[in-house]
Amino acid sequence: MGVVAIVGRPNVGKSTLFNRLIQKREAIVEPTSGVTRDRHYGKANWGGVSFTVIDTGGYVANSEDIFQVEIDKQVELAIEQADVILFLVSVTDGVVAMDRDIMQLLRKERKPVLTVINKVDNHHMAQLSVEFYDMGIANYYNISSINGSGTGDLLDEVIKYL
Ligand code: GDP
Ligand code: MG
Repeated sequence: MGVVAIVGRPNVGKSTLFNRLIQKREAIVEPTSGVTRDRHYGKANWGGVSFTVIDTGGYVANSEDIFQVEIDKQVELAIEQADVILFLVSVTDGVVAMDRDIMQLLRKERKPVLTVINKVDNHHMAQLSVEFYDMGIANYYNISSINGSGTGDLLDEVIKYL
């Protein structure tokens, strides 16, 4: 079965997307960042294609915190296991330094990476996402993990790699 890993810095909505994809409440979603320490696995299906989704903890490069080092290790394992990686960022914050660290990490991979701009809950937010295009991210998907908008188009693309 194909494997999809959800990767990003803390608080961009990885666990919320994971829960939407597996349609159950399994991953821990907290307003406090960095709650998912290890990898969480779930089963999902789109258009008759079944796949495994991995939710990961928020990646923070070069941390000296022993818990964060462990989280980062788990993220790297999830990336190794994945057939396609969803790199999540948040439209509410734009591209921040922590996102760039992850982009650097993912650039080393010879795996398909889909950049996903989350928290695009409405038209107004969709206009803000143009900023990402200006940052040189030419290809991305606007989604709202909370209301589900855009997730269908994203999944149509995801299953092409599985
Ligand atoms: P994670 O740390 O990346 O796993 O992020 P979480 O899934 O725990 O979500 C962090 C916060 O962002 C929570 O308060 C979520 O409710 C919120 N959030 C997640 N997805 C969305 C979204 O699509 N729109 C909005 N407005 N908030 C979201
Ligand atoms: Mg989480």
